[in-house]
Amino acid sequence: MDSLLKTKDLRVNFTIQNGFLKELLSKEKKQVKAVDGLDFEIKKGEIVSLVGESGSGKTTTGKAVLQLLDNVEGEVTYNGQRLNQKDKKQIKSFRQKAQMIFQDPYDSLNSKFKIIDIVAEPLEINGKIRNEEHKKEKVKEALEWAGLKPAETFFYRYPHELSGGQRQRVVIASALILNPEFIVADEPVSMLDVSVRADILRLMVDLRDKKGISYLFITHDISLAWLISNRIAIMYLGKIVEIGEADKVISKSLHPYTKALINVMPKPKISKQKQKRMILKGETPNPSNIPTGCRFHTRCPFAEEKCKVEEPELTQYSDGHFAACHFAEKLLEGAE
Ligand code: SF4
Repeated sequence: MDSLLKTKDLRVNFTIQNGFLKELLSKEKKQVKAVDGLDFEIKKGEIVSLVGESGSGKTTTGKAVLQLLDNVEGEVTYNGQRLNQKDKKQIKSFRQKAQMIFQDPYDSLNSKFKIIDIVAEPLEINGKIRNEEHKKEKVKEALEWAGLKPAETFFYRYPHELSGGQRQRVVIASALILNPEFIVADEPVSMLDVSVRADILRLMVDLRDKKGISYLFITHDISLAWLISNRIAIMYLGKIVEIGEADKVISKSLHPYTKALINVMPKPKISKQKQKRMILKGETPNPSNIPTGCRFHTRCPFAEEKCKVEEPELTQYSDGHFAACHFAEKLLEGAE
């Protein structure tokens, strides 16, 4: 598969706003390293999941690759071209090919607009509507791709008249109308009933298979990531700590944090490998105060002295399977 999107040393820092008095007294403003040097690639027609707890930097990463933030450092290359936010023409063309689906279909749709106008909005903004007939034709096509049929029966309805699953399909239709190559889907099913989750996930996989759409799928749920992805990247406090083919990450996980996420999966009977029983200690540390050495050492049951002082590199252990843990091999052997 050819490469579609690549990041190199991707970073996003935020400055924390102190209260007025603190602002006056403190000499230095606190920085949060929300995304702390990410290198990853998404190939054409591939679904890569970014998995981690809340506060790990997943959503910020999604927005950063789509150039939706103005404080992004490092490189994002799309179809071999490095993106440059100052190049308005390039970014406009990129934004037509790359779309985002947000978590909350209730929030993402303007309740005052009819479905036809919501779905047509990206075409409108980009001056791509020739006339009313053309608008209807394009909206019909997008709604049908998103599984809302007969499409015309949805045109003049309002979001509140639809179910949660239908609303998320409208969000998807609106993302599809510009014929994108790449979608960042940020927890797209977490607000939906369990009964419709599988339908929306199936639709996304179908769009990959039939339209060749690639995805960055953001989720806190590693079992969903396993269902839908070609590859999984595990993120902890702004860094990728493990990445590889979905099956390998699940059945031969190398990083203790991945093992902990797998442990809370609903059906842990996932492989012949006996996963070490791991319960995470404590809360994720404050991202403005990232622990020294391995950033996971404050919660890791296998931490040794070395972990407190030396940051592990993301290292390849088998074909395309990388982890950032000093003892990854030892832990894997112990589990087999
Ligand atoms: Fe745990 Fe040490 Fe590995 Fe970090 S490097 S994950 S603290 S064993």
